[in-house]
Amino acid sequence: MQPETNIAILGATGSVGQNALTVVRELSGFKVFGITGHSRSDLLLEQTRDFTPEFTVFSDRSIQQEIDCSQIPDTTVHFGHEAITQLASHSSIDIVVAAIMGRAGLESTWSAVEHGKRVALANKETLVVAGQQIQQLARQSGAELIPVDSEHSAIYQCLQSGKSSEVAQIVLTASGGPFRELTPDELKCVTVEQALDHPTWNMGQKITIDSATMMNKCLEIIEARWLFDIDPEKISVVIHPQSIIHSMVEFCDGSIISQMSPPDMKLPIQYALTYPDRLAGPSPRLDLGQSHELQLLPPDPEKFPALQLGFEVAAKGGTTGAVLNAANEAAVGAFLNRQISFTDIVAACREILDNHNFEPNPTLTTLMHQDRWAREEINKWIAC
Ligand code: NAD
Ligand code: MG
Repeated sequence: MQPETNIAILGATGSVGQNALTVVRELSGFKVFGITGHSRSDLLLEQTRDFTPEFTVFSDRSIQQEIDCSQIPDTTVHFGHEAITQLASHSSIDIVVAAIMGRAGLESTWSAVEHGKRVALANKETLVVAGQQIQQLARQSGAELIPVDSEHSAIYQCLQSGKSSEVAQIVLTASGGPFRELTPDELKCVTVEQALDHPTWNMGQKITIDSATMMNKCLEIIEARWLFDIDPEKISVVIHPQSIIHSMVEFCDGSIISQMSPPDMKLPIQYALTYPDRLAGPSPRLDLGQSHELQLLPPDPEKFPALQLGFEVAAKGGTTGAVLNAANEAAVGAFLNRQISFTDIVAACREILDNHNFEPNPTLTTLMHQDRWAREEINKWIAC
């Protein structure tokens, strides 16, 4: 009998994390070895009771007194961020599902890559901030980065159809979010509630706002640039409101290969766990007995200036990704706190990116310094 594959799910209480647990429950041969969560401690306790992992990490130390560990006697419990990083590098772990939201996922993803793990990567912000450094680390350690982001999983699958030298372009699809048809004036008045109501995907708050501003596609252009080591001029974006075609690759002979399935994260999560094999699993199927309308539309760059930011940062590299990501995270937080307007999010990111002290070959320390600087600049923007 084959030994079980041990999995750590970082960010188990989030949208991707919960889907990952559903996938692992349905697949034989995989064991949940460790889970982590930050805020929803009741859910993390429940997941620990259900899956009895070896380790559970509550990353928010301030709740330590509130956790009743006697409810989970078969699991070793740790608190604090360092414990996530240690879990990610544990020698018994084969696959790390990196599903923490935002820049907070960087250290643990870094640790998993450094220790040569297979990383099922949902945390796109890590590649936006430090894509060049992470890929260099992966080459040294032998780590495998398999995307969980649905577009990048689709591209990863489509790329199996040809050689990398034969790729003419990769085409990221975007649902266009809930505001595709609003005028620029209407966009200025979008409320938090409207922005959190995504038409096709059910996701965490930050990525839902990113989808509405198209900043999510901006981050995905940068993610694709590093993940596939591709010239940004060979990346394009099309609007596909139905979210059935998850992305496409055009080869040099003009053939376009796409990957299609209903909008559900379980399939890309499962593919990252089982690659290169495919297994029957819990993902919903496209009902081809029904008619489906699949539209492909060009994006409007004037209405959604975030796309241009993505192409610029993908081409320039250096410190731009760290600055853009931090400005966006802080601006999304400010929008959710009703301190800035919807259109301020991308406008603030543009201004802060243009004013930053660019360095072409930064160290991780420099990137973290620039990250803090950009967050402070957003605070100044709010105060104005
Ligand atoms: P979420 O907000 O639902 O969950 C985030 C998880 O990270 C939770 O477990 C939370 O406790 C943990 N977390 C939050 N802040 C933390 C911190 N400071 N320290 C440690 N842990 C922390 O987010 P999500 O929608 O599941 O997205 C997670 C990642 O996956 C993001 O990078 C997102 O861009 C990416 N992603 C998500 C989807 C999706 O469908 N939700 C699709 C593609 C990519
Ligand atoms: Mg995506």
